[in-house]
Amino acid sequence: MLELKNIKKFYETASFKQMALNGVSLTFEQEEMVAILGPSGCGKTTLLNIIGGLDRYTSGDLIINGKSTKDFRDADWDSYRNNSIGFVFQSYNLINHISVIDNVEMALTLSGVNPKEKHEAARDVLKQVGLEDHIHKKPTELSGGQKQRVAIARAIVNNPDIILLDEPTGALDSKTSVQILDLVKAVAKNKLIIMVTHNPQLAAQYSNRVIELKDGMIISDSKSTQPKDDQATYQPKKTAMNFFTALKLSFNNLKTKLVRSLITAFAASIGIIGVALVLSISNGFGNQVNKLQQESLSGMPITIGQYSYNLSREALQSSFNQEPVEVGDVVIPYDFDGSRIPVRENTITTAYLDYLQAMDETIYETISYSYESGMFNLLHQGLGITPVSARKINFSVLPDNNDYILSQFSLVDGVMPVDYNQVVMVMDENHRVSQDVFVELGITVAEEINYNTIIGTRFVAAKNNDYYEKVGSIYSVQTDLSTAYQNGFELEIVGIIKAQTDVAGLLLDGGIAYHPNLNTVFLTDSLVSDIVLEQKDVNYDVKTGVAFNPLIPNNTLDNAMKQLGGSLIPSEINIYAADFDQKENLKNYLDQYNVDLEEEEKIVYNDLAEEFTNIMASLIDGISIVLIAFAAISLVVSSIMIGIITYVSVLERTKEIGVLRSLGARKKDITRVFNAETFIIGLAAGMVGIILTGILNIPLDAILTKYANGMTNIAVLSPVHALLLILVSIVLTLISGLVPARIAANKDPVNALRVES
Ligand code: ADP
Ligand code: MG
Repeated sequence: MLELKNIKKFYETASFKQMALNGVSLTFEQEEMVAILGPSGCGKTTLLNIIGGLDRYTSGDLIINGKSTKDFRDADWDSYRNNSIGFVFQSYNLINHISVIDNVEMALTLSGVNPKEKHEAARDVLKQVGLEDHIHKKPTELSGGQKQRVAIARAIVNNPDIILLDEPTGALDSKTSVQILDLVKAVAKNKLIIMVTHNPQLAAQYSNRVIELKDGMIISDSKSTQPKDDQATYQPKKTAMNFFTALKLSFNNLKTKLVRSLITAFAASIGIIGVALVLSISNGFGNQVNKLQQESLSGMPITIGQYSYNLSREALQSSFNQEPVEVGDVVIPYDFDGSRIPVRENTITTAYLDYLQAMDETIYETISYSYESGMFNLLHQGLGITPVSARKINFSVLPDNNDYILSQFSLVDGVMPVDYNQVVMVMDENHRVSQDVFVELGITVAEEINYNTIIGTRFVAAKNNDYYEKVGSIYSVQTDLSTAYQNGFELEIVGIIKAQTDVAGLLLDGGIAYHPNLNTVFLTDSLVSDIVLEQKDVNYDVKTGVAFNPLIPNNTLDNAMKQLGGSLIPSEINIYAADFDQKENLKNYLDQYNVDLEEEEKIVYNDLAEEFTNIMASLIDGISIVLIAFAAISLVVSSIMIGIITYVSVLERTKEIGVLRSLGARKKDITRVFNAETFIIGLAAGMVGIILTGILNIPLDAILTKYANGMTNIAVLSPVHALLLILVSIVLTLISGLVPARIAANKDPVNALRVES
């Protein structure tokens, strides 16, 4: 039982107030077929929309099964439409991008009927309206009469109490009109059917009650019913669309605009591609740097020297960003090496040397103790006896582990040194050795020098007492060095080794490398030499007679002693690890030494490999951030574009919004439909972006590999980044679609349905 009590409806427009219904009071039976007649614009559609809960009355009351609707909220109206009302419109109002059966199922979908039941019910009513063979067609593939049958099927599928038909035959020829009305009568038995028409014949033929309307008022009612006092029995079920339905609706909608949707997704993916490419490169590059550190740079030793260098990025920055200071009219001498990087001085002690001696063999491969190469008084006999510059021949100690050396170098001729009197020549990957080495050792420099010219070359490390003579209070080099040469430790080049990679050069520089025993042999002699014994007790350099100056770097007694072979403390210790893990253990051991020590007693090592990779890594990070910022701009642009496209979609789907609302969809559901659309676009954009990035990474990688010497796989997108970017794409498009989705939700369903499609 449905009752209208003095219903009035005004439409407020900017210029005037349009009276659509002017006090309509009507009572409808549970079961009757009512025709509403009247001229165009008299308020028929308005009346139907108010009865159907699609439009709100301005004043009066609508009473449903004894329940007043004055206090109805949106949700109540939504479920009223869904549960109690079936709408049939003149213009069919089917959703064109989903199938006939999906159209019919929509009303059930909104009331949460399970899929199987839903499908059966829809199939059933479609059979009743004679369309069982067309259920999978799209509405656009049907004739007008067939479309109206679908609309009728949709109106009755969830068995509503009231069927409202707004000029259902207005667009149909007379023969089809009769068929449609016959169908309505047949399928909607035992219901209240209210049909608007302006065909009086049809009204008379099919209805048992005719109401005439004019200017928003009832001018005749063939069988007016008196209101009865009903018990309030009205209790509808709430409606809700789940996200999956929204997804399906939007997916189908996007499918009908496939090309546009793909272009949209592609355009939206550009920002993602930008960010993904940058991430690929920084990720790939980072991986490569780590690999480099783990594989090749593990060959770089842990170095403990007189100074520990701090190569961290902060240190570099702080040395670059020095505040200008005010100075007078003077020139300031400075130690370039010392001031470039802040240094910390280590005092290596015998206790520390003992600590290293006690080191477990499993945590390092080999260790080398370097003394000042200047302590050696090297001589070679050519035409006469000539000094050999230890610096120029790069006279350095071999690590005490030939296996380890041979893991980085190949022995190309001769043998490896096994005692103090044997040295090797070290050449780089390309067989090169500085020509100074040959000049110093008296080997004729030629374009190419045969191995056998080099092997067997002899020179001498002269003893201090033979090398220096005391003239007055100063020690100077003997003028006649023949005794020194005769008595010295004779050294012979016994082999030639070649670096296997350019990193091996970090282990040994090109030149001459000697066996560690030479240090022991030489120091044993020099420690008790006259010059050392004399130097030990004075605060001036015995070779020059000049006092030590603390302002000049390394101008100390300690250093002078080292230069004379007068100290057992090495000037540098290099400890080599076989791999990354071993190096970590080694560092732990070295750190352990410092635990309970005062700051100045601590001995700090340098891990050049790590510092190098740290600087690389932070450089990569810095560059990546800048590039990502640029790429992000394109993300913003594509987000705005998505917002616009979604808004266009809202405009296009206005009719659909009206249809969904007439079927009982809530505002929330409409929002959901559009969120689903942006979700799909965002997901597609993200995936397209990731796929295209994967493809673009192939040539990019090829180019980068060409430029980055020895590195491969530089542009690699990590799966984590890929997933994150898809997520970012979805979130961004969802956000950009929020406003259009809200606009859609707030569309007045009545106006939405009035839009011509
Ligand atoms: P009918 O269906 O009988 O042709 P309607 O119910 O559609 O008539 O319209 C009744 C009156 O209300 C008409 O004068 C129409 O112009 C007016 N009207 C309908 N909808 C609106 C609206 N949204 N805003 C302003 N006026 C409206
Ligand atoms: Mg109308």
